[in-house]
Amino acid sequence: MIQLYIPLNFLGVLYREIKQSLTDLDKMFVLMEREREVADKAGAPALAGLERPTVRFEHVHFAYEPSRPILHDVSFEIPAGKTVAVVGPSGSGKSTLARLLYRFYDVGIPGSPSVAGGITIAGQDIREVTQASVRRAIGIVPQDTVLFNDTVEYNIAYGRAGASRAEVEAAARAAHIHDFIRSTPKGYDTMVGERGLKLSGGEKQRVAIARTLLKDPPILIFDEATSALDSANERAIQAELESAARNKTTLVIAHRLSTVVHAHEILVMEAGRIIERGTHEALLASGGRYARMWALQQRRGDKIEPQAAIQSLP
Ligand code: ADP
Ligand code: MG
Repeated sequence: MIQLYIPLNFLGVLYREIKQSLTDLDKMFVLMEREREVADKAGAPALAGLERPTVRFEHVHFAYEPSRPILHDVSFEIPAGKTVAVVGPSGSGKSTLARLLYRFYDVGIPGSPSVAGGITIAGQDIREVTQASVRRAIGIVPQDTVLFNDTVEYNIAYGRAGASRAEVEAAARAAHIHDFIRSTPKGYDTMVGERGLKLSGGEKQRVAIARTLLKDPPILIFDEATSALDSANERAIQAELESAARNKTTLVIAHRLSTVVHAHEILVMEAGRIIERGTHEALLASGGRYARMWALQQRRGDKIEPQAAIQSLP
């Protein structure tokens, strides 16, 4: 009979190692699951004409699962260099718009190929060009940021390979995260993420903002980009985001209506449909849903409940 003798503490180490790699594996599958949703067409070219791109959603229908349509016939245009804002209750489909533009998923209802619609950037259907070129053109500050298990510097520089330390620091200063980073044991070389320094929601959000400011792409998506910040930080960073968005084609998903007042157009979403649209003045004058939301926020001192993060984007 073979005798097995394994020291208990060795088993403990082994157990931790296995558990850790299972967690990583889990994450990999989650990522692969997402990657599987979209694939480049054979010989797809890169997105072109990105000096000042116009973004268009044309009759977009979408469902994550066939049985539950999420977006119904959504059409809007973000003219080159302009900002379009999306507001509406939690679960109305706002973040889904951001995910579709970044092409985490393709438009359409699985199993119903006749209903889909399309999204174009500078006149090109994003299904017809490489996914990498779409993602290069877009900077996204998601609702819930997931950081890489790597250094702070890597996490900020990601998206713009070859950025210098000085450029990384400038972006971090603009996102009001520089002083915090300097206070950590190894500064910009501090490891963050699950196996490093754990950052708060607001700190992660500011790292994502720094990353996007550094990337400086022609198209920006801010998905409740400052929702995890306290109001003093939020106001300061809001100003940075507004200046970053100047002359960029920008989709802003807002939790505070005060940040959308100057948008070229405001879309009010409910249950996957655009139920109202127009400028701030026009929407106030029409006395509908937006006007009521505005009145409510004014009374509550400009704060509505931050929306629960339903799904995170990397
Ligand atoms: P919002 O950003 O307006 O709060 P979302 O676009 O995140 O709303 O979500 C819209 C709807 O889609 C919600 O009902 C949500 O539960 C559902 N949903 C979001 N992500 C997924 C997913 N990965 N799989 C299935 N349903 C999802
Ligand atoms: Mg959302």
